[in-house]
Amino acid sequence: MIRSLSLCLLAAAFAACSPKSEPTAAQKAGPTAEAHAAATAKPGTWEDWCDEHQVPESQCTGCNPSLIPAFKATKDWCEEHAVPESQCLKCNPALKITRPPKKAGN
Ligand SMILES: [Zn+2]
Ligand SMILES: [Zn+2]
Repeated sequence: MIRSLSLCLLAAAFAACSPKSEPTAAQKAGPTAEAHAAATAKPGTWEDWCDEHQVPESQCTGCNPSLIPAFKATKDWCEEHAVPESQCLKCNPALKITRPPKKAGN
């Protein structure tokens, strides 16, 4: 009786150690849909935030290249890093762009 039980345990340990760990489809698909603000988000609000670039979505030149001329027109543009100077963490390591606080009671 005892011998057969230990055989069982040995078989279970073997199965657990077998190198058959292929990634499932669920692990491959990452959640990306909610990284960006909706088009209806008001500038300056908590909703207006680009999680990918860590700047307000309404000022995100990474997502909206059409914003670039406006930044260049106000001389707020870093040619070297292709981002607005006011968003360039490489030129301004001390820069902190923080997401506006979420409004309570929404
Ligand atoms: Zn972005
Ligand atoms: Zn820069």
